[in-house]
Amino acid sequence: MAKDSNKINSLDVTRSNTLDLIQYWKSFLGINEWEILCESISEMQVVDALDNNTFGHEFVGISINFKLKQGIIHHTRNLEEDDIIHELLHVRYPKWSEQKVNLITNLLRQRPIFDIGPHPNILLANG
Ligand SMILES: [Zn+2]
Repeated sequence: MAKDSNKINSLDVTRSNTLDLIQYWKSFLGINEWEILCESISEMQVVDALDNNTFGHEFVGISINFKLKQGIIHHTRNLEEDDIIHELLHVRYPKWSEQKVNLITNLLRQRPIFDIGPHPNILLANG
C-alpha cells in the first residue's frame, strides 16, 4: 500500500497540533491526570485476523493501563481529532461499547453545541 511521503514534511506541525488536541480533550473529559502517548507504527505491523491474517492495514487504537493511568495511541496514519476523541472516550468510559464510543465521538466533534460552559462533562455523566 503506497503512502504519500509529503506528510513527513508537516509532521512537526501535525504533532504539536495532536498534542494540543489531546490536551484539550483530556481536560474536556476530566482525565487530566492521565498520560496519553502516541506511537506511530507501520501498517506492516498490523495483522487483520478477520482478513486471513494479512499484513498492511490502517489502524488506530489505544492500549490502556488503568493502574499507571497511561494510554498509548498506536496509529499507522496521522491522527485526526475524531481519533483522539474516540480513543480518549475509551479511557474515560472503558465499559462503553464501540458503537456508543462512535456515536458520542460523532456528537462531540460538533463541538459548538457542547460548548455551553465550564462543566460540559455533565452531559456525559450518565454513562
Ligand atoms: Zn474504539
